[in-house]
Amino acid sequence: MTRASDFEDSVAAVTFDLDDESVAVIIGSGAGGGTLANELAQKGIDVVLLEAGPRIEMDDFVNDEVEMAEKLIWSDKRKASGNRASVKAYPDAPAWVCKTVGGSTVHWTGTCPRIRDTEFKARSTYGEIPGTNLMDWPITLSDIEPYYVRAEDKLGVTGTHGIPYFPGNNNFKVFAHGAKRVGYEQVTTGHYAINPVPRDGRNACDQIGYCVQGCKSGAKWSTLYTEIPRAEDTGRCEVRPNSMVLEIRHNAAGRADSVLYADHSGNHHLQKARIVCVAGNSIETPRLLLNSASNQFPDGLANSSGEVGKNFMTHVEAGVFATFDKPVNWYRGRQAAGAVWDEAPFNPQRGFVGGYYMLVFHMGLYGLAAALDPKGWGASYSSILENYEFMAGSSMVGEDMPTPLNYVSLETDTLDHHGKPIPHIHQDDHANDHTMRNHYLKQISAVYDAAGANSLTEWRAYPTGHNLGTCRMSENPRDGVVNSFGQSHDIPNLFISDGSQFTTGAAANPTLTIIALVIRQAEYIADKMRSNEI
Ligand SMILES: Cc1cc2nc3c(=O)[nH]c(=O)nc-3n(C[C@H](O)[C@H](O)[C@H](O)COP(=O)(O)OP(=O)(O)OC[C@H]3O[C@@H](n4cnc5c(N)ncnc54)[C@H](O)[C@@H]3O)c2cc1C
Ligand code: SF4
Repeated sequence: MTRASDFEDSVAAVTFDLDDESVAVIIGSGAGGGTLANELAQKGIDVVLLEAGPRIEMDDFVNDEVEMAEKLIWSDKRKASGNRASVKAYPDAPAWVCKTVGGSTVHWTGTCPRIRDTEFKARSTYGEIPGTNLMDWPITLSDIEPYYVRAEDKLGVTGTHGIPYFPGNNNFKVFAHGAKRVGYEQVTTGHYAINPVPRDGRNACDQIGYCVQGCKSGAKWSTLYTEIPRAEDTGRCEVRPNSMVLEIRHNAAGRADSVLYADHSGNHHLQKARIVCVAGNSIETPRLLLNSASNQFPDGLANSSGEVGKNFMTHVEAGVFATFDKPVNWYRGRQAAGAVWDEAPFNPQRGFVGGYYMLVFHMGLYGLAAALDPKGWGASYSSILENYEFMAGSSMVGEDMPTPLNYVSLETDTLDHHGKPIPHIHQDDHANDHTMRNHYLKQISAVYDAAGANSLTEWRAYPTGHNLGTCRMSENPRDGVVNSFGQSHDIPNLFISDGSQFTTGAAANPTLTIIALVIRQAEYIADKMRSNEI
């Protein structure tokens, strides 16, 4: 069995020259970038992995919500507008992502469903929905299925590859009891990238429940202590933390040839590259392409379609906290602890297209207080917190609509400390999002009522962790930014390797699909490099 300290023996065994034109440069070390680095390095490709955040190792994790939020969260200035509750409540920080080696996989809670066949064919399945840019993906479930199998093995997903499901904790038992009473049938502790038993050099889950703060036992998969050290162990991957990429540059032939980045002290460096893969999460990825505009590409790189930054999606979100007469002790066990799947398939009789998962989750006391109202005060507010141990909790993850109104653009009037325009995120609810959210709130209230809750508190506004779209895949270069392998339609040696490439959002939590796409992309890149096409 491997303890935390064993993972830290890995050291960067190789360094590459800034002038080395043979390397693959990957930007961002989270789910997409960290995994791609390992996949390419294992295939014998030299990789420079540039990460804006510091390298915080497992021993630096502490079970303290405030301290870890300060250590991990991307807090560079952003601006948001729109009528979505999350952007109204958090106009400076509408999205929740990490700035650290390992990216948001240090933070995530490991839920791993697959996208459904009908969701890959969203436009064909749902028909024309006014006000949306719905499109079918240029791949189907059968194209990606073998890569889902490999991704589930890599992550050690429960309920796959002979890995047992978790037993339910109290938070799940209360939820499951109510769900079955209202007639739900697919009530499960679900698929998680968290070890119920030791596997692949990682420990079994201790059920202590600080998953978002960084998993001290390594039971939860993160690129920080799986993919990245394994890539380094090949001797073909150099990780450069505290390296914020400011621009991707290209040669006269219009091929990406280098990236400009700032180190911890703000000094600039130009790293040459044979290919460039961007995995900065769906706000920073389009921002970087737009900030890389040149005379040849005045609207930004890979943007001949005008689609860079468009169709920003985050999943329809909402949550409910239920209070009971007897203690639930919801904080004991994993933060994400089960789900109802019955509402996930498309069922037009509900009055909306797409579907959603009803999830079980808990929050720490500090997080709960901030979520309810960061400036909360008074008797009704404190009475909720006093009932902390009597609470149970659920949130939803539902498919939101890609629309021309939801985008990431540059706020050219406001520059960051590197002198680059900050991102402006605009997000309005589409009517379909609104109807779906209300459907969930009605159903989850019925679930907790059936379980005997004595009060319910709705949670409609939180910064989202699932950022998608903004560089979407399309069959036709006119309609999107990349092809089905994440390769730019305009610049063949420029790849998008994160959730930005999602054509639509689907209902599934996105990371398993990001990993499956990246494993597939790595094979494609290796083939194209071998044949000297890139
Ligand atoms: C609290 C929370 C819980 C979550 N739970 C789940 C879950 O249960 N299931 C699920 O599927 N998903 C979950 N997610 C979402 C999941 O974390 C993301 O889908 C996934 O990490 C996205 O991968 P990525 O590679 O696109 O980005 P990230 O993992 O966010 O990595 C991007 C990295 O790029 C770096 N970067 C950005 N710009 C630059 C730049 N210009 N130069 C250099 N580096 C840069 C960032 O610092 C960051 O480290 C959760 C997210 C949060 C916040
Ligand atoms: S509950 Fe399990 S997955 Fe979460 S931090 Fe603890 S050991 Fe890791």
